[in-house]
Amino acid sequence: MSKCRVEGKKVIPCELLDQTVDDLYTRIRKGIFDLVVTNLDTGEQYTHGFGTKSGEHKKGLMFNFCPFCGEDIGSHLKRKSSVDNSGGTVDNSKNS
Ligand SMILES: [Zn+2]
Repeated sequence: MSKCRVEGKKVIPCELLDQTVDDLYTRIRKGIFDLVVTNLDTGEQYTHGFGTKSGEHKKGLMFNFCPFCGEDIGSHLKRKSSVDNSGGTVDNSKNS
């Protein structure tokens, strides 16, 4: 039986995971979804990850591991560096 593989940013799903995902046009429904990313430079489309929309997580919850074969399919989604703090500024410089 095949297992999921991560090649760079792509996830190549195992057979069971591949069969469980609804197709692109029904992804607003509940169930397991694939996150398809398009590279605007090359036009290449690839699957970046898998997740589920059910229960409390109607907007989606990405899998760290494949629920079927148990392979790690989420490590490439995490930030390699520590948390990026450049987005927000905290202004403590009140002039009293
Ligand atoms: Zn799998």
